Amino acid sequence: MEHIEESKSRQVAEEAREAQWKRESFLRDLFLGSFRIDLVHPYPDRPVERREFSDFYKSFEDFLVNRVDPVAIDETGEYPPEVLTELAAMGAFGMKIPTEYGGLGLTHREYERVMELLGSYDANITALLSAHQSIGVPQPLQLFGTEEQKRKYLPRCAAGAISGFALTEPGVGSDPARMTTTAEPTPDGRAFVLNGTKLWCTNGTLADLLVVMAKTPPHGRISAFIVETASQGVERRRCHFMGLKALANAELRFHDVVVPRENLIGAEGQGLKIALVTLNTGRLTLPAATAGGAKACLEICRRWSNARVQWGRPIGKHEAIAHKLADIAASTFAMMSVAELTADMADRERYDIRLEAAAVKEWNTVRGWQIVDETLGIRGGRGFETERSLEARGEPPVGVERMMRDSRVNRIFEGSSEIMHLFMAREAVDTHLRVAGKLIDPKATGREKAFAALKAIAFYAVWYPTRWLGWGFWPRFRAFGPLARHLRFIDRASRKLGRSIFHGMLVHRARLEQRQAFLFRLVNIAMELFAMVATISRATRMRDEKHDAAGEARQMADLFCRGSRRTVISHFHDLWHQDDAIKYSVGQAVLSGKHTWLETGIVGLGRYADKLEPSNEKVVQAGSRHSRVQSIDPPTSPALRDDQGHAARRRS
Ligand SMILES: Cc1cc2nc3c(=O)[nH]c(=O)nc-3n(C[C@H](O)[C@H](O)[C@H](O)COP(=O)(O)OP(=O)(O)OC[C@H]3O[C@@H](n4cnc5c(N)ncnc54)[C@H](O)[C@@H]3O)c2cc1C
Repeated sequence: MEHIEESKSRQVAEEAREAQWKRESFLRDLFLGSFRIDLVHPYPDRPVERREFSDFYKSFEDFLVNRVDPVAIDETGEYPPEVLTELAAMGAFGMKIPTEYGGLGLTHREYERVMELLGSYDANITALLSAHQSIGVPQPLQLFGTEEQKRKYLPRCAAGAISGFALTEPGVGSDPARMTTTAEPTPDGRAFVLNGTKLWCTNGTLADLLVVMAKTPPHGRISAFIVETASQGVERRRCHFMGLKALANAELRFHDVVVPRENLIGAEGQGLKIALVTLNTGRLTLPAATAGGAKACLEICRRWSNARVQWGRPIGKHEAIAHKLADIAASTFAMMSVAELTADMADRERYDIRLEAAAVKEWNTVRGWQIVDETLGIRGGRGFETERSLEARGEPPVGVERMMRDSRVNRIFEGSSEIMHLFMAREAVDTHLRVAGKLIDPKATGREKAFAALKAIAFYAVWYPTRWLGWGFWPRFRAFGPLARHLRFIDRASRKLGRSIFHGMLVHRARLEQRQAFLFRLVNIAMELFAMVATISRATRMRDEKHDAAGEARQMADLFCRGSRRTVISHFHDLWHQDDAIKYSVGQAVLSGKHTWLETGIVGLGRYADKLEPSNEKVVQAGSRHSRVQSIDPPTSPALRDDQGHAARRRS
């Protein structure tokens, strides 16, 4: 495999990045230390239910309950043909496609309600529908396609021609710079000839249409094409996984496949940008589906913790399990709140949701996974037992083990956890790089540095003091009642977040981009604050509309925020007091084989071991890249004491 320098990977990612912010973003402002509550509050109204939507939702729910057997789908590893036919007949493949192109024209919020329902029931069908319309042909075509392309393909997709999205390759996971699939123009320029291998394309074995990313000459930039799988030279092989057993996922091989020029989506070389923009809204399916899964877990835990008696009491009466129930309920409320809030933002012209979509994808999939894990534990041995086995013994077939097998991949596809963090971290430092980037750029000339210094002085002279001064302890946000104190915390924490990013630039300078642990903590803080404000805003909305469960919602929001505050304080503390340097150097020692003594006494990988070592690739030895950092913003600063006056405990 060709060795690709890290700088090349960065360059490709930078070129695909949307550099401009034309609309507002709550998280972008938060990273700059500005808490714009007006962007997330009042919490969106419940839209008046459109008749077209409620009819579809009802029939979809009936269909799931009466016609779909998730256990059989998991067991056979196949989608029953009649299920696919019925999904197509009811328009499920065109939920997000506008009505003028034959779709149902659902809004993001409506679509997400369907996905939440589906996520609570069958992950295989969730993945099928999501891959088709969130990242498959319909979404990029709606965003970047010509009118001719839309007229040609969208009605087909809405009617049930399944599609998929093919970016990943054996050597390309999170790093598109390594792409080897090529699309060479024919001599007459009327078509492209596609060659290469794509991996793990969801829906690949069922799809009629694919969006394929390939490098086009002369500069080898990535372009996006619509490819008919019936074309000559397309070979497909099914892949199988620990979960999502029915996923029609394929390795695709293209041998001299001729793709007409009119199948190019957008401009040549814009493919990666198209993929990233597509994913901005495409990523919103998983947050809704995982919120649905969390709700399902909550029901299982509640019922089982009441029913199961051990040591003289229902297990839910034992403190350890009661605490888990409380955390699952509070997290479920938070997951619903952020997912719905972000979907609503996606429906409105006012927002650029690229950061919020990444945050809610990352946050909900992580929480969703933790909840499934806790649910499995609460069910005890039954959590580990299959539905069929439970049923055979006369017990209710509650499929937590299936949920667990199906859930883990949510943290890998549509952007792995690490890549979501990196994506958000890049935007977190963006303003500082624009203002002072040249100052820390070792390649910048003296003149460039002098100019940047003037620019930085002008910017930071105003910005920095205002990140200290605020009204964080003033009795603001009174309209939020007892939840106001959490908002005051968010207000203080957001300013501290802005300052910490700036301090990180000062301390780590050009090395900041390598300091993933530092950057990821900042991102974690921002995600936590976002989830907090979403829950508060939602609970307040429920209070204002005199919802029956308004009191319970306030309690959920309060409990959730209490836990989140501790998490935020701990992340702030760890920014400057941690073992990052030691961990990195031990990680490098493990990598170099110094600790293979720990691997003795096992069977091991045997003859496959060499295949997992870098063979023909030169691994860049980064060495110990960390230097000790001084604490410049102690977490015990009054600005971040919580309202009870507890300062974060320092780790020794
Ligand atoms: C069930 C399933 C369905 C899929 N469906 C599709 C699909 O429809 N279309 C498609 O194109 N792809 C699909 N994929 C591929 C999926 O998007 C990739 O698996 C994902 O992008 C990660 O790539 P990778 O597996 O090669 O991991 P790698 O990129 O090799 O990463 C391995 C690990 O290293 C981490 N890592 C990578 N780079 C960095 C970095 N710079 N800093 C820190 N950590 C890093 C990753 O987070 C991960 O933990 C699917 C995968 C699966 C398993």
